[in-house]
Amino acid sequence: MNEREQLNELRVPSKDNPLRMLMSACLTGITCGYDGSANGEYPSALKFLNYDTVKITRFCPEEFSFGSPREMCDIHGGAGIDVLNGKAKVLTASGKDWTDGMIQASEKMLEIAKNENIEIAVLMDISAACGSQVIYQGNRFDDNKTYQIGAGVCAAQLIRNGIKVISQRDFASLEIIYAKIDYQHVIDPTKIDHHETEWYKNYFKV
Ligand code: SF4
Repeated sequence: MNEREQLNELRVPSKDNPLRMLMSACLTGITCGYDGSANGEYPSALKFLNYDTVKITRFCPEEFSFGSPREMCDIHGGAGIDVLNGKAKVLTASGKDWTDGMIQASEKMLEIAKNENIEIAVLMDISAACGSQVIYQGNRFDDNKTYQIGAGVCAAQLIRNGIKVISQRDFASLEIIYAKIDYQHVIDPTKIDHHETEWYKNYFKV
């Protein structure tokens, strides 16, 4: 089953039995970013706050382990799943090893997801914790910074435990969810997910 088919399988929620969604706290406007901001404003995610057919659980894994504000961190030597498997590390911009704290944060996120019976997670892409499609490869402050296809540590933890994760820039996937939670929403067939953009295809040569 491909990603869109999986999303189509989501039930149609109601006010009495809303869709149980986990969101990166910053995507809901909470100022838990590394610099004490909300990492910008993402209307595609904020839209979910307007519906009573969605029950949103917000969590910031990095704030849980490292507080806010904090240093910026990235994954070195692999992607999030490699960190969980002990094959890659999470390092801050100044070189502090945050691997253990990030794994603990991912376990907390999974615990919350299980306790809340989460049906779908919408997480902030690019983050070493929450990224689900594209993350940095090593330090994002390097002059020759590069990206890799993959999930951050906390998204990887959810995915490997069977929880579907999409990002705030997977616009085609988001359209399917909007239509589930709002019977009046007409799916816009011109929207695409991040992995379908020209930038993605050109950068990763896929
Ligand atoms: S760890 Fe996740 S929720 Fe927290 S600021 Fe980063 S992207 Fe947002």
